[in-house]
Amino acid sequence: MAFSIAIDGPAGAGKSTIARRVARQLGFIYVDTGAMYRAMAVFLLRRGISPENAEAIGKACGEADISICYQDGEQIVLLNGENVNPLLRTEQAGNMASASSVNPSVREKLVELQQKLAAKTDVVMDGRDIGTVVLRGADCKIYMTASVEVRAARRAAELLAKGEPADTAAIGRDIAARDHRDMTRETSPLRQAEDAVYLDTSDMTIEEVSDRIIAVFREKTGASQKG
Ligand code: C5P
Repeated sequence: MAFSIAIDGPAGAGKSTIARRVARQLGFIYVDTGAMYRAMAVFLLRRGISPENAEAIGKACGEADISICYQDGEQIVLLNGENVNPLLRTEQAGNMASASSVNPSVREKLVELQQKLAAKTDVVMDGRDIGTVVLRGADCKIYMTASVEVRAARRAAELLAKGEPADTAAIGRDIAARDHRDMTRETSPLRQAEDAVYLDTSDMTIEEVSDRIIAVFREKTGASQKG
């Protein structure tokens, strides 16, 4: 049986930074499920399909082959064989991912891919529905959040570091809108699993958060030999 750590939470809570670090420390694979929804969004944007057009999205799901591979420990998302990583972290792809991820055909397709990955490998997987839907039996579940202000500032810093323009107030509004959509959608809304540990990272360092998660994982599994 492979080990699994599920990390859920809203946009910009620090999930990917932490999940990547925890995975490296434990020798697990990091699976960024948001990147899969973003790759699907890139496909839909290219086709000019509206997020409200459920029928067209359902059809597009059959035409978009999404898979992942790893290069130097980094997850690469392949959309019909093309490495789309450089296109995923834009606000446009994020907003389209949030809008199109309410579609059950999109979710069904990507959840299956995620479950297959976790069945054969030790994973740290982050997203919105990992502890509640994708890996209900995860060894360790974390619900990670931070205030909207802190999250907007982190996202802006990430964009600026890449040399892209960042309007912190506008990002904050986008984050709040995305939270609302992710938490109120009918299919697999973002919520804390009953058995998840709640972590507000607003005033925590990256080291503190990842140490805490590794401690929870060890406590739950008794896997003191890991890492
Ligand atoms: O985490 P990230 O910002 O990359 O995710 C982009 C969007 O994809 C989220 O706003 C959310 O709507 C969707 N998503 C999801 N379920 C996941 C991961 C992401 O619905 N497991």
